[in-house]
Amino acid sequence: MDSYDVVVIGSGYGGAIPATRLAEAGMSVLLLERGKNRGTGDLTQSDAPVEIQEVIDLVIARNNVAFRTGKLVGGASINMDGAFFRMPQKSFEARDGKGRRYWPELYSRAALDPYYEKAEAMMKIRQVGWDEVPKTAGLFGMMLDAAGASCELSRMNYHNCLQCGFCSVGCVFDRKMTLRHTYLPLAYAAGATLISEATVSTIEPSSASSGYLVSYQRGAASTVVHGTRVIVAGGGIHTSALLLRSKAKLPKLSPHVGKNFNNNGEFAFVGLVPESFAELSSVFCYKGMENGGLMSFHWYDEEGFTLHPGAGLEPTVLTGDFKSATDAALPSRSWGLEYKRFAERVYPHKLIAFSALGLADGHAEIAIDGAGKPDIVTTDRTAFDAYIDRLEEIVTAVGKTSGITLFPSVPRELSGTTSAHLLSACRMAESADDGVVDPDGQLFGYENLYCCDASAVPYSLAVNPALTISAIAERTAELIVTKG
Ligand SMILES: Cc1cc2nc3c(=O)[nH]c(=O)nc-3n(C[C@H](O)[C@H](O)[C@H](O)COP(=O)(O)OP(=O)(O)OC[C@H]3O[C@@H](n4cnc5c(N)ncnc54)[C@H](O)[C@@H]3O)c2cc1C
Ligand code: SF4
Repeated sequence: MDSYDVVVIGSGYGGAIPATRLAEAGMSVLLLERGKNRGTGDLTQSDAPVEIQEVIDLVIARNNVAFRTGKLVGGASINMDGAFFRMPQKSFEARDGKGRRYWPELYSRAALDPYYEKAEAMMKIRQVGWDEVPKTAGLFGMMLDAAGASCELSRMNYHNCLQCGFCSVGCVFDRKMTLRHTYLPLAYAAGATLISEATVSTIEPSSASSGYLVSYQRGAASTVVHGTRVIVAGGGIHTSALLLRSKAKLPKLSPHVGKNFNNNGEFAFVGLVPESFAELSSVFCYKGMENGGLMSFHWYDEEGFTLHPGAGLEPTVLTGDFKSATDAALPSRSWGLEYKRFAERVYPHKLIAFSALGLADGHAEIAIDGAGKPDIVTTDRTAFDAYIDRLEEIVTAVGKTSGITLFPSVPRELSGTTSAHLLSACRMAESADDGVVDPDGQLFGYENLYCCDASAVPYSLAVNPALTISAIAERTAELIVTKG
């Protein structure tokens, strides 16, 4: 049986970063990734569902709505929209109903800043210029301005972007600095071994030596490898599924695995822009970087949410729940011929899309079905619904002031279930009573078994998560190197 100092499962931010740092420190590293190793030349600029599903894993929840995660070498860095924000201190201070701070005490903006800095330098993150903001996002900025609210240019890892709008199926022009462009080449150069199309089925403690046995499936072949240390980084959904599949072999595993699943308070709106608002004929809602390059922190201090515009491929603008029982300018239902005619009138010049991210409780948990696949179940939505009520109230008022009619992008009962920000299902905590992972990224009860991906993030951030995941991954790798 092959044996490594470290076996890393998953090649997104939570896996590729420690794989790189530990290989650079001289450890033997095996990186197992269930997805294909597709280079830029293998990507297709298409919004055909069959192509989208080649690069984005759509995990269908019980209510038939899809959560989006990565499924290629590089994880969701291939699909993501390139916006990277450090988390403001207020988000580190979020507390539960009993006053417990979600983040372990040692975490603060100041404590993570050195790791944020490292990750930003690696991924070439910078503030975009106004000349890079798509026109639809410009309309979003005008809407906020008309309502007396502020926004700022985003920090992104796109360089010389061509504004084609296909970011989430992977950039065929190499303008997005994915993990394939940044960390992973350094990991390979330092000797890390990648095995792609290798789906890890279970992890168990090794009885013969210290460390763990990792079983994976590649095609019809089953293989077991040994890792003195194992880092589980399958992302916000699949890390929990893998640990739950391994539960019989990891009996001390926390009962919190799969619980507290949180979508970062993500909720999308679509806006119907009147002709009188601006010159609209040159606005195409599908054109431009999918994250529109702006971010509003206007309501963050008081209300705990941020807003950012979208453009491009995101299906948001096509699925908008535009309907009204009273307004004759709107269809009476969100489907059928009347809706089709309405869509023809407003698409593509009169639509804007934007999303909120906020400090909000989760409303789902991850279980596994009989085949060991993730099964996402809705739990108590009371707190999440209260957050959405307040958000809608504020955002609808902004639309009214500026003359733009706003709608949720999906019917209200499905809100929070189309997210790409999938957090907290193996959350980090000060003690085993509250979480799965200790403040240094090690699973409670299991020495040298780590998790530093999206699932370890203890609560919503109200900003895009990838930079914070990267900073935690940098920190975890540093601790492992120091520990030796
Ligand atoms: C369309 C889209 C747009 C986004 N835009 C932004 C943005 O602009 N800014 C931002 O900050 N965040 C964004 N995100 C979110 C961000 O990409 C994720 O939070 C981040 O990638 C999570 O990192 P991760 O390492 O936890 O998981 P992932 O990046 O999802 O990586 C997990 C990897 O593990 C692999 N894996 C899973 N299970 C197994 C297994 N059993 N065996 C082997 N391999 C396995 C998966 O195939 C995947 O490659 C976006 C996400 C999507 C989908
Ligand atoms: S909009 Fe820019 S980053 Fe996105 S796919 Fe096109 S060129 Fe690449």
